[in-house]
Amino acid sequence: MSLILKAVENIPLIEKGDDIADIICKNAPDIADKDVIVIASTIVSKSLGLTFREEDVVPSAEAKRIAALNGKDPRFVQAILDESVEVFTEAPFMLVRNKNGHVCINAGIDASNVGNGLLLKLPDNPDKHAAAIGKSIEQKTGKKISVIITDTNGRAFKEGQTNVAVGLYNIKAIRQWIGEKDLYGMVLEISEEAVVDEIAGAANLVMGEGGGGVPAVIVSGLDLYVDETVSVTEMYRSKERDVLIRGLLELKNE
Ligand code: GDP
Ligand code: MN
Ligand code: MN
Ligand code: MN
Repeated sequence: MSLILKAVENIPLIEKGDDIADIICKNAPDIADKDVIVIASTIVSKSLGLTFREEDVVPSAEAKRIAALNGKDPRFVQAILDESVEVFTEAPFMLVRNKNGHVCINAGIDASNVGNGLLLKLPDNPDKHAAAIGKSIEQKTGKKISVIITDTNGRAFKEGQTNVAVGLYNIKAIRQWIGEKDLYGMVLEISEEAVVDEIAGAANLVMGEGGGGVPAVIVSGLDLYVDETVSVTEMYRSKERDVLIRGLLELKNE
């Protein structure tokens, strides 16, 4: 098996209303069946016009309370609260569950690669946007493809960030190994491979985090295409099953 990761070159600075599928197809003329198109959430959000100015946010008393604890601007804290359904830590940083169920710092609100001093939110229902872009690419190319929308996240326990999947089309979040045998015939009991995060991480080697200007990567050589409705939320662990989240909530309520 060999994988090829190809940058989609010459993508312009994306603005509200831009057609991401069209721009990708024009700059990646050789998209093939079963390719996985990895797209940075940043350009999906920009195309949806999800930029905002911190100074336009009106902070609540709750935002001011949290800002006094973590030293952030109360308006920035309010923007995070607006995008969150649950707050797990307030200081020194805000770890939250965003409206889509994804647990991340600052609800994914990002200033990098946005410009003009603006901030950017993650799209609501990224699976829906992955599907819309994916279907449009399929229409334009006549190929059966998958889409992964990504964002860069920190991780528990380790320094360094990696790219993760935040929205999916035609690819399952997890590849099941449970019931398969290892090299020695032992039946695997808990192995579930988060393939979409692995692909997101690999694609980020091509994207980078800075001014590289590569918000889309075509991954060829995988056999993970499925023609069914999928959701990134299948990966999101419930509170009942998450000892770390429960521990954080206990600390917060002490
Ligand atoms: P995030 O992980 O979704 O927050 O995205 P990043 O800010 O890390 O950017 C990922 C890649 O996309 C980097 O190579 C950026 O330079 C690039 N990028 C972000 N926005 C644009 C854009 O509007 N146009 C182009 N051509 N590249 C962009
Ligand atoms: Mn960014
Ligand atoms: Mn980001
Ligand atoms: Mn990134």
